[in-house]
Amino acid sequence: MKKVVITTLLIIALVLNLTACSSKTSEASKPLVYASFYPIYDLTSKIAGDKVVVKNIIPFNVSPHGWEPSAKEMAKITKANAILYLGMTMEEPWINKVKASAPNTQFYEVSKGIEPIKKGNTINPHPWLSPKEALIMIKNINEALQKIDPSNKDYFEKNYQNLKAQLENLDKQYSDELSKARLKTFVVFHSAFAYVARDYELNQESLVGMSDEAEPSPARMSELVDLIKKESIKYVFAESLSAAKPMEAIAQESGATLLKLNTIGTLSQEDIDRKADFLSLMKDNLGKLKKALE
Ligand SMILES: [Zn+2]
Repeated sequence: MKKVVITTLLIIALVLNLTACSSKTSEASKPLVYASFYPIYDLTSKIAGDKVVVKNIIPFNVSPHGWEPSAKEMAKITKANAILYLGMTMEEPWINKVKASAPNTQFYEVSKGIEPIKKGNTINPHPWLSPKEALIMIKNINEALQKIDPSNKDYFEKNYQNLKAQLENLDKQYSDELSKARLKTFVVFHSAFAYVARDYELNQESLVGMSDEAEPSPARMSELVDLIKKESIKYVFAESLSAAKPMEAIAQESGATLLKLNTIGTLSQEDIDRKADFLSLMKDNLGKLKKALE
C-alpha cells in the first residue's frame, strides 16, 4: 500500500514537473529577435505581436550614434535567432563584430531599398523620421518576420497591413500639412530630418552634421543666426536628447523661439512616462514642424 502511494506521488510530481517544463518551453520556443534601436524595436514589436520575443539592443535614453555593446551585452545579443538592424552605417562598427560572433543568427537590414541621402561618401542614417521611408522599413520588417517564423505568416501580414494603413495616413498628413507651409526652411541641431526635408520638399539647415555627438562651430552658429533673421524664421529646434545650449544661444541671438523636435532614435524617460510610441512621436513632430513653418 505504502509503495502504491509513493508511486502515485512520484507520478503526480512527474506530471507537475512536465507541465511546468512545457509552459516554460512555449515561451522559450518563440523566436528571439533583437532590434538594434528604438524605431526598429517599436515597429517590429507591432508586427510581431505576441508570436515573437522582441528585444531592444541600444538601451532607452541612449543615442544610437557611437554606441558600442559591452561584453555582457554581446553575449546576450549573439543568442538571438535574428537581428533586425537599420544599416546605412548607423550600427557600424559594432554590428560587424556581432555578425562575426553569431554564425547561427540571421541578420536583416531594414533600410534595404531606401534611396540614401549622402554628403560626400557619408550616408545620412535617419530615414525613419520620414513616414515615406518608415513604410519601406516596415515592409522589410514584415518580410523578415515571415522568414523567421513562417508558421505565423498570416498573423504578421495582418498586423503589417494595419500598421501600414496608419503610416500611410501619417504620410498623407505630412504631405497635406507641410505643403501648405509658408516657410520652407527649418533649423535643427543635427541633420536627422534630412529625409523629411527631401520627401516633403522642405529645406533642413543643421548646426552640426549627421551625429548628435559633433561639436558645433561658432562660424556655423553665426551663419544660422543670419539666415534666421534674413528669412524671418520664428522657431528653431533643439532635440530631446542632445544638450539644448547651442540652439538656445542661436534662438537668443536671432530672436527666434526654441522648440524641441524628437529624433526618435531612442525613448527618453519623459517619452516612457507619457506612454509615447513611434507613431505618436511622429505626430508630435509634424505638429511642431507645422508651427515652425507657418
Ligand atoms: Zn542622429
